[in-house]
Order: sequence, then structure tokens, then C-alpha cells
Amino acid sequence: MTTGDLSRGAAIRVGEDSLAVAGILAHKASPHELGGILVGWWEGSSTAVVVEFLPVPDHAAGRSRYERRHSLAQEQLNAYLASRDDSRLGYVGEWHSHLALQPPSRADRSELEAIVRLSRKQVALIVLAIDGRANSTYGLIGHPRWPRRAAIDGAVIERMSS
Ligand SMILES: [Zn+2]
Repeated sequence: MTTGDLSRGAAIRVGEDSLAVAGILAHKASPHELGGILVGWWEGSSTAVVVEFLPVPDHAAGRSRYERRHSLAQEQLNAYLASRDDSRLGYVGEWHSHLALQPPSRADRSELEAIVRLSRKQVALIVLAIDGRANSTYGLIGHPRWPRRAAIDGAVIERMSS
């Protein structure tokens, strides 16, 4: 695993509005973490375009714990895609909140690696860190590497006015 290398130009473009809505949902869910899946598309292999932060509630979430339920996530994704007439849209990754200004944890990186190894595709992760009125957004992109590894790069978050 390589870490934190921004030189490859990994980027995650996010719609301002969807990022703002996710921030509001994350605040409302506090003191529990909230997360879900990122919907959008890829431009090349190192730029993810995110148009929606689809929340997937976890009833067992805690102050520093969020586990994304796979079957519920798939159901919500299918329902969302059925409601939109845009063939570009699909799963691009995962997001969750942190209730402190903390970047993705070791556990977050391991989980991202596991998803990349299983799917054999690049996967994005966004962490929305909120602490009172302060907030920070962190991005990672995991790439599959032969034979069954994953490389994790830090990704710049680029905001798109939507
Ligand atoms: Zn985390």
C-alpha cells in the first residue's frame, strides 16, 4: 500500500449542493456517525465525479463507528438510479462522517483496500469531518494493483457549483 501521494493527481469532484446536504445530514445524525455511498462516474482512472452522497443509515452507528450495510446500500442505489435517467451514474465509492476533525483512519484505509481488492475497480472514499461549526473534507482513491493488492492515494477535493 502506498499512502498520501498527491503527485498522481487523484481528485474527487463534488457538487457543492450535495456536499452541503451531506454535511447537514451528518450534523443531524450527531452524536452518531453517518455514511453511505457516493454516486457519480469516473473521468479517467484518477478523477471521480460525485453528484450524490446517498445516505445508508446504520442503526448500530456510534460516536466513532459507522458500518455500511451492504444489502441496504444496494437497494438504495438501485432505487436512486431508477429515479434518474442518466446512464453515466453508478457507484463510485463510500462516504462517512467523523465527529472530530480527523482524517480517514487506519481502519478506513483497510476497509477501502478490502473493497478495492474485492471489486478490482477504483473506489473513492470521502470523510466529512465535523466538529461544531468547523468542518473538513478528506478524499482517498483506492486503485487495484496486480495481483491482489490496492494502492491508496490521497485525493484533492474539488468543489463544483451545482
Ligand atoms: Zn472513519
